[in-house]
Amino acid sequence: MSSESSKRITLPGREAISSEGPRGQLLVVSSPSGAGKSTLCKRLRREFDDLGFSVSYTTRAPRPGETDGVEYHFVDASTFQEMAARDEFAEYAMVHGNMYGTDARTVEAALAGGRDLIFDIDFQGGRSLRRHFGEDVVLVFILPPSLQELERRLRTRATDANEVIERRLKVALSEMEHYAEYDYVILNDDLDTAYDALRGIYLACRHRIARTRFLAERLLAGEEVSTR
Ligand code: ADP
Ligand code: 5GP
Repeated sequence: MSSESSKRITLPGREAISSEGPRGQLLVVSSPSGAGKSTLCKRLRREFDDLGFSVSYTTRAPRPGETDGVEYHFVDASTFQEMAARDEFAEYAMVHGNMYGTDARTVEAALAGGRDLIFDIDFQGGRSLRRHFGEDVVLVFILPPSLQELERRLRTRATDANEVIERRLKVALSEMEHYAEYDYVILNDDLDTAYDALRGIYLACRHRIARTRFLAERLLAGEEVSTR
C-alpha cells in the first residue's frame, strides 16, 4: 500500500435534504483480504434490495467469474489516472499493488437521493470517506479468527495466484492495526453470527436521526407518516 488521495465534494445542504426525505447512509466494510467482507456484503444486499453497492474502479485484472460493471469497473492505468485528474473519485488508493477508486457521482447521487450504499473498500478509503462525509459514514471492520484461517480462506477461495496470496497475507497484520479507526468490529469466525452482527448494524443505521428526521418533521407538521 502506498498513496492515498481524495477530494472534497460539494453536496446539497444537510438541512434541505433532511426535512424533505431520508438521507442516505454510507456503510463501509473493510478487512484484510480473505476475512469475508465480500461474502457478508453480498448477503446483506441480497436481503436488502434497496441497499446499493458502490462499484469501484480498479486497475486489477478481473478474476475468473468477475464481470465488468458488477464487482468492479475494470480500467487500465492511464484511464484511471485520467479519471483521478478529472476529480471523478470520491477517494482512491493503491492497495496490494493496484489502484482502486470510489466513483464520486454514485456517492453524491445516493446521499442526495436518500439511498443507502455499501462499500467494500480498504482502510485508506474508509478514512477518506469518514473525513469527507462525517456522520453519513458508518465504518465496519471485519476480522478473521486467526492468520492461519485467513490463509486457509484465501487458498480455498482459489481466485488469486500464489504470489498474490503471499503479498496479501504479508500486509494483513498491518491492515488489521487500523481496526481502531472504525465504529464497529465484527469477528468473522462463524459466518451466520458475523452476518447477524452486520445486519444489526445496518438496521441501526437505517434508524439514525439523519435518516429518520424527515419522518418526525412530517409528523410534527401534522402529516400521517409511515415506513411502508
Ligand atoms: P474478502 O472479500 O474479505 O477478501 P471473501 O468474502 O472473498 O473475503 O471470503 C474469502 C473466502 O472465505 C471465501 O471463499 C468465503 O466463502 C470464505 N469465508 C467467508 N467467511 C467465512 C467463514 N466465516 N467461515 C469459513 N469461510 C468463510
Ligand atoms: P480485491 O482485489 O480483493 O477485490 O480488493 C483488494 C482490496 O481493495 C480490498 O481491501 C478492497 O476492499 C479494496 N478496495 C476495493 N475497492 C476500493 C476502492 O474503491 N477504494 C479503496 N480505497 N479500496 C478499495
